[in-house]
Amino acid sequence: MHIKELVLDNFKSFGRKTRIPFYEDFTTISGPNGSGKSNIIDAILFALGLARTSGIRAEKLTDLIYNPGHADEDAEYDGERQASVEVILANDDRTLSRSQVVNAAGTEDVGDVDEIAIKRRVKETEDNYYSYYYINGRSVNLSDIQDLLAQAGVTPEGYNVVMQGDVTEIINMTAGSRREIIDEIAGVAQFDAKKADAFDE
Ligand code: ATP
Ligand code: MG
Repeated sequence: MHIKELVLDNFKSFGRKTRIPFYEDFTTISGPNGSGKSNIIDAILFALGLARTSGIRAEKLTDLIYNPGHADEDAEYDGERQASVEVILANDDRTLSRSQVVNAAGTEDVGDVDEIAIKRRVKETEDNYYSYYYINGRSVNLSDIQDLLAQAGVTPEGYNVVMQGDVTEIINMTAGSRREIIDEIAGVAQFDAKKADAFDE
């Protein structure tokens, strides 16, 4: 399974609907400082529910909505107050089975699961804001998305996304802590946790 395409709509610096294709092996994104490279990573974290707002460099969720006067605190913007990000996953290798997708979406009506589209939308009203998640167009909760992704080895703790600061942190760690990360990635950590639970009993 891999990300096939990202669709950003009114998200951070992406004021226009933007489709970003990803290749199966690897994709590099280059551009000048401040052009929005890290915003693309933020978009993935936002849509897959993998980070808190601080992890996606925003104080509040509504800061993620495109605002041309972004740098100016007092600037009023009367444009559309909603943003969305869709992550289209290629699942033709059936990393996730049809029944796992059906289970997460809570309905048989999930269409073709060769592609799984995970979408998050944030909407601001005059006195509140709302966040919505979807799997293949079906409205779901964050936990449904997290449970589904965990079955494909994608978790908030999983180092599926390695942030700039993480690299330095990993270098400065003790050998033991570094080993824990490798265990986590290799999927050994869950067995250690079960073993520890068994000893406790
Ligand atoms: P660097 O090479 O310095 O790491 P980058 O390409 O990663 O740069 P980003 O951090 O992705 O750049 O983008 C920063 C830009 O996004 C800034 O210009 C900032 O003003 C803009 N930005 C962030 N949030 C919003 C928003 N809600 N509306 C409009 N622009 C925004
Ligand atoms: Mg950056």
